[in-house]
Amino acid sequence: MTMNTQGRPTAPTASAPLPASPTFTGNRGLDIAEPLIFEVGRREVSGVDIEDAGETPFRLGGHARKTPLDLPGLTEPETMRHYVRLSTQNYAIDLGLYPLGSCTMKHNPRLNEKMARLPGFADVHPLQPLGTVSGAIELVAECGRWLLEMTGMASVAMSPKAGAHGEMCGMAAIKAAIKARGEDRTIVLVPESAHGTNPATAAQLGFKVVSIPARADGTVDPEAVKAKLSPQVAAIMLTNPNTCGLFERDIVAIAEAVHAAGAYFYADGANFNAIVGKTRPGDLGVDAMHINLHKTFSTPHGGGGPGAGPVVLSDKLAPFAPVPFVRFADDGSAEFVETRKQAAGSATPFGRITAFHGQMGMFVRALSYMLAHGADGLRQASEDAVLNANYVKAQLMDVMTLPFGDVPVMHEVLFDDRFLEGTGVTTLDFAKAMIDEGFHPMTMYFPLVVHGALLIEPTESESKAGLDQFVGALRHLVERAKAGEVEAFKAAPVFAPRRRLDETAAARNPRLAWRAPEPEGRVAAE
Ligand SMILES: *Cc1c(COP(=O)(O)O)cnc(C)c1O
Repeated sequence: MTMNTQGRPTAPTASAPLPASPTFTGNRGLDIAEPLIFEVGRREVSGVDIEDAGETPFRLGGHARKTPLDLPGLTEPETMRHYVRLSTQNYAIDLGLYPLGSCTMKHNPRLNEKMARLPGFADVHPLQPLGTVSGAIELVAECGRWLLEMTGMASVAMSPKAGAHGEMCGMAAIKAAIKARGEDRTIVLVPESAHGTNPATAAQLGFKVVSIPARADGTVDPEAVKAKLSPQVAAIMLTNPNTCGLFERDIVAIAEAVHAAGAYFYADGANFNAIVGKTRPGDLGVDAMHINLHKTFSTPHGGGGPGAGPVVLSDKLAPFAPVPFVRFADDGSAEFVETRKQAAGSATPFGRITAFHGQMGMFVRALSYMLAHGADGLRQASEDAVLNANYVKAQLMDVMTLPFGDVPVMHEVLFDDRFLEGTGVTTLDFAKAMIDEGFHPMTMYFPLVVHGALLIEPTESESKAGLDQFVGALRHLVERAKAGEVEAFKAAPVFAPRRRLDETAAARNPRLAWRAPEPEGRVAAE
């Protein structure tokens, strides 16, 4: 298999095609094979009954389309079945364990959904006069107040819509603060174990990214940071706990060195789920940190959204928070600061990072989760998440390999692929075989500091019984790999609706438009 420099396969493993279904329909029992909507739809069919518009004045000049709009039509029941059938081909947190490390795929309590659907929250419109939505604004402010309490920071920008968007917001505030000091700092330090969004954010804002190598134990050495600090350094972007699932124990020394050099400390807070109620980033010297509400505070995520990535800021960065931001007025009521002009006194917002006010539904879900758990419950969720990861580690470390040895981990446990050495089975094959066992694979080949990484994050949602079944399945797969069943691994998954897809080709050469197949006997133009 071809590998890139990070040991990530660049071409799909050849695997035998799935045996043709022996059934007349192509369905496998109640697992229905659903074609594309273009293949099932007919232009002449419609699920709605609209009266003919009759004669209307023509106002498009020469711009009217001359060919019919080729939309697939379905009846109402066909439409419903199409999407429900597709949905059954998806794996979901509501179906089983979703051990994707770094993603924190935890149970989303139904209470959150019930609250988010209350008409006063679900039906508000972003262009409604603010005076008619004061309760919703107060909820946003209250959610922010909990975040400030938990992080020990001075200010919060609620509007960013994802973790990566929060990174952009926090780093833009840092950029504005440096500019306000009349300085020109162009470098951002990023440890090599960082999530790809960190260097991408820095580069997007025009910074030059300088990588900090990890120590042999997987953490960042303050000396390695000091060696790279200079008057050109604007900030460090550091994740804690880091993406190896380890707590950066020298974080205070790193923060002090960064501040002494006149730079800022951006913390990637995606792993906040491990430390809520245990430690406050503000006490560790953090200047800006995003919080993925969709990870730490439940709320559904995946498939690109929706998410919410509020950013907490230190005193030094608070004046640069983007509009709109919420603040409490002197009379205690919550208000939105919508424009630079409204920002009081020394505030100089760097601008605006999103239209409107952020993801209202996510704020409702996250606050509902916080209130339902309370301070003690949130702390316990973190403790249970860490306990579960350490349990998985303890149950698998005799058959799988730990890159940094038997050290306590935080909310996720990282294995490398040394246990597969000589078996012919790769991390990818191993993950595909997990699908046949009914588990969503763990995060693979990330972080890049470890060869063939397998990063498991069980979260606090899983019971011991659930973890025992997962551990049992993984131990069974390790045995099969070591017993030489390499062919079976290369063929996996055999029970999934689709086999191995050529993800690289799909990403490099996406075909985004459907075209009717050419009539038989002619070769398609592509
Ligand atoms: C998830 C994650 C991000 C990005 O967050 P999104 O909400 O997916 O944009 C950044 N850093 C780390 C460590 C993460 O796990």
